Amino acid sequence: MTLRLNDDHIKLAIQKDGRLTEDTRNLLRTVGLHFESYKQRLFSNCRNFPMDILYVRDDDIAEYVAEGVVDLGIVGRNLVVESEKPVEEIMPLNYGHCSLKVAVPAESGIERIEQLSGCKVATSYPATTTRFFAERNVDVNVITISGSVEITPALGVASGIVDLVSTGSSLRLNDLVAIDTVLASQSIVIGNRDALANSHKAAIIERLLTRFRGVITASEYKYVMMNVPTSELEYVSTIMPGLKSPTVLPTADVEWMAVHTAIREDMFWDVIEELKTRGAQGILVSSIEKMFV
Ligand code: AMP
Repeated sequence: MTLRLNDDHIKLAIQKDGRLTEDTRNLLRTVGLHFESYKQRLFSNCRNFPMDILYVRDDDIAEYVAEGVVDLGIVGRNLVVESEKPVEEIMPLNYGHCSLKVAVPAESGIERIEQLSGCKVATSYPATTTRFFAERNVDVNVITISGSVEITPALGVASGIVDLVSTGSSLRLNDLVAIDTVLASQSIVIGNRDALANSHKAAIIERLLTRFRGVITASEYKYVMMNVPTSELEYVSTIMPGLKSPTVLPTADVEWMAVHTAIREDMFWDVIEELKTRGAQGILVSSIEKMFV
């Protein structure tokens, strides 16, 4: 089969079928890209943006980007670090959060990685694991396992493991406890260095990244509208960690002003509680679809 890829287009590789696939497709659609995607597809042309999308195994994405087979990839940072390929980490995408952790059997009594010195450690991330222990001068025997790493201590294969953890339920199910973090990961955009140095491709890449930023920034904020007693307006404006100053509009009642602003999600509840103590009323909160600051 010949891939009908367009030389004027940039190429993006995403995971074909796995944990990141749905969120990645959703992100691409949310930024307004129109493309076909169903399970058997190997690639799609975007109908309204100069980009082709390739669907590949996520372990191959860093390699494809490094080799210039594609210009961009969306992949878990854990795989980029493990691949040790020379690619540019361009932008975190705020989904697919997990961390690579060192874990040991709960009953082992091991609390520090130094206690694993001379022991076997099983992992699907041998390069990252070897580097982690070497940098800390802890001499371990790294055993590479391709799946179900968490059962290896119970099987007597290893004294500890290095594995991806998101909720920690898999560790608990296997009576393991995490004792250290090797790296924090999430889905990221990676780029080929030659593509980023090519002005035609770099301009298209920047257009795509601007759209991603709009969606990611929006997900970090809520839009808040409320009525505030005019006497409290000055103080209320100072506690609203919005973008610039809030929009203030008169209402039919001179005693009250309408205030609109965007508030960061992580500060949201604290600010709302304080606003209420200052007499704010009719507080309406809504999600923001896209936001450019
Ligand atoms: P998978 O489809 O299972 O190969 O996972 C794809 C990617 O999802 C991984 O490479 C990680 O970046 C990310 N991920 C997020 N949470 C987890 C988790 N609990 N276990 C494995 N991968 C995870």
